[in-house]
Amino acid sequence: MGHAKSIHEKLTEISGNLWWSWQPDVTAIFREIDPQLWSSLSHNPILLLREYTPDKLELRAREVVLHSRINAAYREWQEYLASTDTWGDTHAGVLGFRPAAYFSAEFGLHESFRIYSGGLGILAGDHLKSASDLGIPLVGVGLFYHEGYFTQQVDASGWQREEYFMADPNDLPMNEATTPDGEPVIISLQTRSGVIHAKVWEMDVGRIPLYLLDTNIDQNSPDDRKLTARLYGGDHRTRIRQELLLGVGGVKALAALGIKPRVIHMNEGHSAFAPLELIRMRMDDDGLSFDDALRETAAMGAFTTHTPVPAGHDRFDSGLIEEHLGPLRDALRLDHQGLMGLGRIDPHNHGETFCMTVLAFKTSRRANAVSNLHGVVSRRMWRNLWPWRSEDEIPIGHITNGVHVGTWLAQQMRVLYDRMLPAKWNLKSGEPEVWAEFDKVKSTELWETHQSLKNRLILHARYRLTRQAKRYEMKEEVYDAFQNILDPQHLLIGFARRFAPYKRADLLMRDLAMLEKIISDAKRPVQFVFAGKAHPADDFGKQIMQKIFRLSQEESFKGKIVFLEDYDINLARYLVQGVDVWLNNPRRPLEASGTSGQKVVLNGGLNLSVLDGWWAEAYDGMNGFAIGDGLIHANQDIQDERDAQSLIHVLTNEVIPLYYDRDQDDLPREWIRRMKRAVTTLGWRFNADRMVMDYVREAYVPAAGSTSCSMTVMP
Ligand SMILES: *Cc1c(COP(=O)(O)O)cnc(C)c1O
Repeated sequence: MGHAKSIHEKLTEISGNLWWSWQPDVTAIFREIDPQLWSSLSHNPILLLREYTPDKLELRAREVVLHSRINAAYREWQEYLASTDTWGDTHAGVLGFRPAAYFSAEFGLHESFRIYSGGLGILAGDHLKSASDLGIPLVGVGLFYHEGYFTQQVDASGWQREEYFMADPNDLPMNEATTPDGEPVIISLQTRSGVIHAKVWEMDVGRIPLYLLDTNIDQNSPDDRKLTARLYGGDHRTRIRQELLLGVGGVKALAALGIKPRVIHMNEGHSAFAPLELIRMRMDDDGLSFDDALRETAAMGAFTTHTPVPAGHDRFDSGLIEEHLGPLRDALRLDHQGLMGLGRIDPHNHGETFCMTVLAFKTSRRANAVSNLHGVVSRRMWRNLWPWRSEDEIPIGHITNGVHVGTWLAQQMRVLYDRMLPAKWNLKSGEPEVWAEFDKVKSTELWETHQSLKNRLILHARYRLTRQAKRYEMKEEVYDAFQNILDPQHLLIGFARRFAPYKRADLLMRDLAMLEKIISDAKRPVQFVFAGKAHPADDFGKQIMQKIFRLSQEESFKGKIVFLEDYDINLARYLVQGVDVWLNNPRRPLEASGTSGQKVVLNGGLNLSVLDGWWAEAYDGMNGFAIGDGLIHANQDIQDERDAQSLIHVLTNEVIPLYYDRDQDDLPREWIRRMKRAVTTLGWRFNADRMVMDYVREAYVPAAGSTSCSMTVMP
């Protein structure tokens, strides 16, 4: 008999798998061990447990009565890992022992692990978590960025400063991945200018292993050791080397690990070199011709395209392609123009650069956009790839994005869900009937829960603003004022996203006199919280941010418009759980989907959004608010002006009156009706379980079914 595990051992095991991060009961245990330390360690349990040695933890657990909760959490975790009657067992059985491999350049899993920049990464993280909950045989493939994406600081003039911190793998829940024989995996990539080596880490996300490649090893030159240092950090050459590593390196890593994926899912075009390596393997192992190997590889491919913005599609010139893909091209028995043609819309147009998105379309049979409207836009955008087809026959479908409920639902709101929805609702979150039950929640109770989350956000904002102000060494009075900033009784509107110009963060500021009038209405005041990062190379985005920051310092806007720095998963949680209204005003139709508004829905906030991305298919007239009429004007300036006017109109005629329309108990009855309607009509559709189930049904299972016989191993 083995010895009974101590609570330190149990928590250490739990902290080695990111499963804990979407279990509010477990998160609560870590927080209660030491709330202050927990917060200052960016919610990293490995660091917390290093501080709380077994003896110290034992004392503390006795003090705050944690033993039985830790034991229960441990049992729950063991049961989660062992459970076999999952949705995936019934619906994804065809994948059997050969999983789907999900490739992504970024994964947003938790704030303590900064290998994501924004929506694309969060989506990938939510995909893995839902695949785990549903029991889908899937593995993730990505890169381990030591410095990750930057931490944002805003200086006293409102200009963005980027800071990078070196992460230590020992502080993170990952281990060296090993071959079936227990050897560490090192893969090598031959280029015309030398060999790049990488090691492979494994991180467990519930039942899903995520493999991350890392070039920071002795075998590499000093330059190549830094290749995986930063996400979206370098020039074109760094970018193609990272993408070579992700695609070709990722396939090599899976082979070394003994994993033979049956489906390849490329989350955005960054990983589109992966099929080339798979084709090479088929040619070498099975003696297929290039054309046959391409056909068979494409049959197992699924590609998700994520943006209609041209800059979002990587392009490389022929020199970079030859330098990095040359040796692989030789193995594929292609000449230079033959390879270039795979990345061109017109293979014979030597003026076209090599586009990763085009490569992904040409090497995977199934392709999808991320919302209904984005599907329409993508079919138009890429129609020249299939010139013999009419636009509505272009083979790009859509699967609308969704968010992982366990990650984004506030604990207090979950209590209401647990009470109102059927038992084990979280296992049936794709079913409308399950969510319909929320309509019966008591209005007072829903409102109080929302108010308490709003208070939590406001307290957090005060804390952050004070911390920011201390850094600028402002006068005492200034940060005294920050202690009381924002009023929980006033309408609170949130806006947080990347400062990409098409997102038009400053749309509201086109008419400053009007904005001032709105926020300073004594009877019906309005306050705004802004957050977001600009890409380090995007000075235009930084200027927009600076404009908002400076406005927040002006006498007439002070306290009514605030800017919080370093938008990340942690700040996002506070915001999406606590705002009354979530503002989204991109230039239609450039927001492919957007997901932050979906997080807001789960927590009872209302969306005020342009009819773009997911909102174009979600809004029904009563579950939130729409800006504009869904029309697009050819002239960008005119469109911006119209949308700005529409935004002001909806704010002053719908949002504000509805919010301040109170009954004798001071409850905004109509508003609360909309909150309930948002949850009941949208919750079941825009969550990641539904999304992953769609991928399984529409992409993974068909792709697995059509893989060639010689590779198929029926379980
Ligand atoms: C959800 C999320 C996003 C994506 O939201 P959009 O609506 O696509 O802008 C970006 N960053 C963070 C930190 C998020 O949590």
